[in-house]
Amino acid sequence: MSTDTPIYSVELFPPKTPEGMDKLKLEIPKINALGPAYFSVTYGAGGSTRDGTFETVNWLCSQGIDTAPHLACIGSSRKEVREILTHYREQGIRRLVALRGDMPSGMGAGNSGDFRYANELVSFVRAEFGDAFHIEVAAYPEYHPQSGSPSRDLENFKRKVEAGADAAITQYFYNADAYFSFLESCRRVGIEIPIIPGVMPITNYTQLARFSDACGAEIPRWIRRRLEGYADDVESIRAFGHEVVANLCRHLIDGGAPGLHFYTMNHSGSVTRLWTDLGLPVARKPG
Ligand code: FAD
Repeated sequence: MSTDTPIYSVELFPPKTPEGMDKLKLEIPKINALGPAYFSVTYGAGGSTRDGTFETVNWLCSQGIDTAPHLACIGSSRKEVREILTHYREQGIRRLVALRGDMPSGMGAGNSGDFRYANELVSFVRAEFGDAFHIEVAAYPEYHPQSGSPSRDLENFKRKVEAGADAAITQYFYNADAYFSFLESCRRVGIEIPIIPGVMPITNYTQLARFSDACGAEIPRWIRRRLEGYADDVESIRAFGHEVVANLCRHLIDGGAPGLHFYTMNHSGSVTRLWTDLGLPVARKPG
């Protein structure tokens, strides 16, 4: 299942403050020096980070960096989405991460917009913009928390692929078997697109536990127990976290994963350590 050229990419989120943006502008060149195929930038559903996403995307483009904006459709109208995509196309953007998103609390009621699920966004992009964008969608090896059952989630994932997704990036996970088993299930139902593991470095246990509860990613008990045991010992958390995640990545690469997508959390440190230890190519890859 491996592609000829594995894709190693990185993800940022739009900073909330000008100071955060200034810090990010110092981190991006360090991450870019690794040679990721592209940088993706998250987008808050309902347009909640719209300006910040645009600013981050603009800045990356101004540096000549291949950029893939995320677009979460829930809470948006067709008109808004069309305007955003027209703007991106004019900016020379050729890759998108197309998502449903989750409405931020307090923004949801009565405002779900013109799209219900990500497959509708993918269909819309293909209908209105043809092949102008390479489209990535989200995949969930441990299954999406709102899905009725694994088989329904797989059917829904297939809908996104049939609507025109070119590739998928997974939610993060720490159990490689979940990924390989998910891949097998996908191949059995005829899903052939590359499914790139999303990799979350472990640097802060409290934050990771909160994210994982919210998005349905499992932190295996042995990892939780070790991390809990380190309490406030940040150095030990980072060292152990690095070892766990580097081993996971090695296992994924050896098993034929078609690339890796690193959730950088806007910091260059952990992704640089992983990139270097894994011996990932430091030259820029074609997108
Ligand atoms: P969908 O594919 O629409 O699926 C959502 C749920 O609905 C699933 O349970 C699915 O089984 C079910 N479903 C799908 N289609 C149908 C259908 N036709 N009928 C019935 N049920 C259906 N969130 C953001 O807000 N901004 C981001 O930038 C962002 N980036 C992300 C990047 C990656 C790589 C990943 C993995 C997630 C990201 N998320 C982001 C989180 C994501 O938006 C949430 O996980 C959200 O709950 C689901 O989005 P989705 O695109 O997977 O939705």
